[in-house]
Amino acid sequence: MTPKEVLAQIRQREVTTVDLRFMDFPGVWQHFSIPADSLTEETFEEGIGFDGSSVVGWRAINEADLLVVPQPETVLIDPFTAQPTLTMVCNIQDPITQQDYTRDPRNIARKAVSHMRSTGLAETCRLAPELEFFVFDDVRFDQRGHEAYYHVDSVEGIWNRGRAEGPNLGYKPGSGLGYFPCPPTDTLADLRTEMAQRMAECGIATSAHYHEVATGGQCEIDLNPKSLVESADQVMLAKYIIRNVARRNGKTATFMPKPLYGDNGSGMHTHFSLWKGETPLLAGNGYAGLSELGMYAIGGLLKHAAALSAFANPTTNSYKRLVEGFEAPTKLAYSRRNRAAVIRIPIHSPSPKSRRIEYRGPDSAANPYLLFSAMLMAALDGIQGKMRPGDPLDKDIYDLQPEELANVPTVPRSLEESLNALRADHDFLLRGDVFTSDVIDTWIWYKQTHEIEALRVRPHPYEFNLYYDV
Ligand code: GLU
Ligand code: MG
Ligand code: MG
Repeated sequence: MTPKEVLAQIRQREVTTVDLRFMDFPGVWQHFSIPADSLTEETFEEGIGFDGSSVVGWRAINEADLLVVPQPETVLIDPFTAQPTLTMVCNIQDPITQQDYTRDPRNIARKAVSHMRSTGLAETCRLAPELEFFVFDDVRFDQRGHEAYYHVDSVEGIWNRGRAEGPNLGYKPGSGLGYFPCPPTDTLADLRTEMAQRMAECGIATSAHYHEVATGGQCEIDLNPKSLVESADQVMLAKYIIRNVARRNGKTATFMPKPLYGDNGSGMHTHFSLWKGETPLLAGNGYAGLSELGMYAIGGLLKHAAALSAFANPTTNSYKRLVEGFEAPTKLAYSRRNRAAVIRIPIHSPSPKSRRIEYRGPDSAANPYLLFSAMLMAALDGIQGKMRPGDPLDKDIYDLQPEELANVPTVPRSLEESLNALRADHDFLLRGDVFTSDVIDTWIWYKQTHEIEALRVRPHPYEFNLYYDV
């Protein structure tokens, strides 16, 4: 869509408000609104100034101004607003230099695509994320008059919710049995259909939705493959739709990676492929139908896996998901079928066009622009350096003896470990100025001070279990 067509749509649909969206550094959608009649063709060139100092991880107060530049191809009539509202995703620019702002995750993703093309190795990177999330009752809408979401059944509270429920257990999936009985046991089918329907109306094609394994209302909606920036835009929009449909139905949706102790967490497995025109570059005659280039891409993803975790698993809570026994990956290995390996090669069809790598590490708290860019950079590094990934790990990792696993590295066990890995291994991200050193340093600083340190100094509810009576 061109700027002219956007303005025509505003008139045709009698739009009163234009809502401008961009993502902050950690990965949360931000917005502000302008009257529709103030948007002109020039706005698409010149942008609109705003104060970037209060956006998390961006400018200092003494150099606060930034520009949002709306992107016409992202136009959408918002299905949730009371007034007819047109939304657009924006890129961020520096008002003085008019250059793309280096800490804008969407700009980083655009640079990653340009870098890929400049190497001549591939023209398109396609990604298909699987969104897992939990749906809980919304305390504000709870008809029973008690605080459902925050209700504490035991000392362990929400960490044990779903396990400590009282009577009326009929039609409730047992522990780990949420995958995937028909209604009435699956009480969230209509809600997910409404979510998928809203997504379809907003241009997001989904391949399937279902109840996931965890007891407490865990859902999954899978998105179709799209090119890198579009796929990241769609993750943001899909999360917005999921949260708003949930809210309108008296529920809340959370993408927190591990809300319930002792049950499956929520991942964001991401299917990855590279293309030249219509030629799928990962397809070939090697292991699991992969090409040599596909194996090198795996080599790069595995070599940089620990550093990638700083973007794929960017919260302290992420590491409560990456534990044995809950289908989350624990081993830095690849396999055709093993779900405990961080990379799987799913074979759902013999067609070379369906050949892809499933990177199972990421969780739904990841900033998709930074994650997808980092994945692409790691894969390109593997291809350029002809990195062989070693042998696949096809046995069930959970059943192997410890000595058989001694040489298989594990995923990082904490955010701190991942940040240390990123500190030691990020040259592959700096190629083509995709991630600047400033971005890497700010990411590590922000996560260390605002999350790791913030948590370290706070008493944890489980400490009451351990230490109250000491
Ligand atoms: N929920 C699991 C995870 O945390 C994944 C389940 C699946 O294989 O889809 O990664
Ligand atoms: Mg799943
Ligand atoms: Mg999967």
